[in-house]
Amino acid sequence: MVKTAILGGGLTGITLARLLTENGHDVVVLEREPKIGGLCRSLVDDGFTFDIGGSHIIFSRDSEVLDFMRAVLSDNKDMRSRNTKILYKNGYIGYPFENHLYQLPRDDLFFCIHEFIKTQIALEKGDLEPPANFCEWIHHTFGRGIAECYMVPYNEKIWNCPTEAMSHHWVDGRIPRPPVEDILRSAIGIETDGYTHQAEFTYPVTGGIESLVNAIASPVEDCIRTNFEVSSVRREEGEGNFVIRSSGGEVAEAERCISTIPLQALLSYLEDVPQGVQEACDALCYNSLCCVFIGLEGEVPDYSWLYVPQKDLGEFNRISFPSNYSTAVAPPGHSSILAEITYNEGDHISGMSDEAVIGSVVERLERIGIIKDPSQIVYTGIEWQRFAYVVYDLGYPGNISLVREFCADQAVSLVGRFSQFEYLNMDGCIRSAIDFSRTFQSTTPP
Ligand SMILES: Cc1cc2nc3c(=O)[nH]c(=O)nc-3n(C[C@H](O)[C@H](O)[C@H](O)COP(=O)(O)OP(=O)(O)OC[C@H]3O[C@@H](n4cnc5c(N)ncnc54)[C@H](O)[C@@H]3O)c2cc1C
Repeated sequence: MVKTAILGGGLTGITLARLLTENGHDVVVLEREPKIGGLCRSLVDDGFTFDIGGSHIIFSRDSEVLDFMRAVLSDNKDMRSRNTKILYKNGYIGYPFENHLYQLPRDDLFFCIHEFIKTQIALEKGDLEPPANFCEWIHHTFGRGIAECYMVPYNEKIWNCPTEAMSHHWVDGRIPRPPVEDILRSAIGIETDGYTHQAEFTYPVTGGIESLVNAIASPVEDCIRTNFEVSSVRREEGEGNFVIRSSGGEVAEAERCISTIPLQALLSYLEDVPQGVQEACDALCYNSLCCVFIGLEGEVPDYSWLYVPQKDLGEFNRISFPSNYSTAVAPPGHSSILAEITYNEGDHISGMSDEAVIGSVVERLERIGIIKDPSQIVYTGIEWQRFAYVVYDLGYPGNISLVREFCADQAVSLVGRFSQFEYLNMDGCIRSAIDFSRTFQSTTPP
């Protein structure tokens, strides 16, 4: 029997395994899929490499975490300058939108500035109530112009949810609040950067983002059991050991259990879940993601990625160009495109066949001029991920605390994006794993 079982071998589970092992703990990682990585897996096919959970880059404000990610990659990394744009009414606007207002058509520029100034005056006079939801937060921060031209349509596309139905507690630090001077500079064409911690990013030279997880896993490969789909987690009578069974009939026993798998899955494996907790868990919202991969002969535009807020320009909210992150992810003379579409079970995207989604993405990319000639296409592929984005709806705070309390009562620790059920990027997951392992070390002898 091992001391600690870690459910799930995505970035969080693998990082935890490494950190706990370094501290002398005995761990096993139980991963459902034939390979580790979760959302950070990459597909290598026909000379192309695509990140199957959407385009990933390595960046962080957290210098300890950033140093860790860069150090484990050793020589297998490259730095790039972010070159991102927003597709806007048949043209391109620099990103972030509010830092490039001068590039807007003049009527839209006036609308954005006028509404921004009106909002600032209303705020100064104390005429605005504190925002009650994400939509109001956007309006109070940027004004109705920027909200209607970009912020609301883009966010409603990526979250697949009306912004009025979303909470705003998570946005500070994620969506930068522009200083008034920056908005004015941006309106008259003085360059301001915005979102500078992402201005330069790191990406593996070979293997896609999965090579980050593989590099973290390399000292702990012996602790990882793949093809182990957890199907029940039971605690023996009297607060005893955990008995964890897989759908294939295997059993793992452990003194402690850390879950990095989605809460919705975990709760279905635990016993005697009270109805109120189950209902709270069922009410937690998330988005699924469909990624379309395209390999092309010849070049793509020199962008890192493009945001696409308008629905009529395509179902995708973002198009990225992996071959601009590393030339080794496409064969010589070729380039690549990755389109991301968020969806939910039961909506029209979820009902489409692979061929129909790929066909529609290709047709839109041709229409907006990203693919010049369909005969350039030498590769297409598609992947669907059920758990991609946590969506903070208005019921989130109450629901998540009920579920977390129940898991704490069951002595199952929660670490990671869908286990904590928080909008954590890779750096946030690694930070959670570091913090957890430090607390664990001080409370639990190896
Ligand atoms: C479109 C998109 C783009 C992103 N881009 C970036 C980016 O550029 N930079 C960045 O820092 N972050 C990015 N992220 C976030 C990043 O992907 C996540 O923070 C990270 O991958 C989460 O890791 P995790 O281990 O917590 O969860 P997951 O990756 O979801 O891992 C959970 C693991 O549990 C396993 N599992 C599930 N059920 C079971 C079961 N029953 N039994 C056993 N195992 C099970 C799964 O197979 C999986 O391996 C992006 C995310 C998305 C969706």
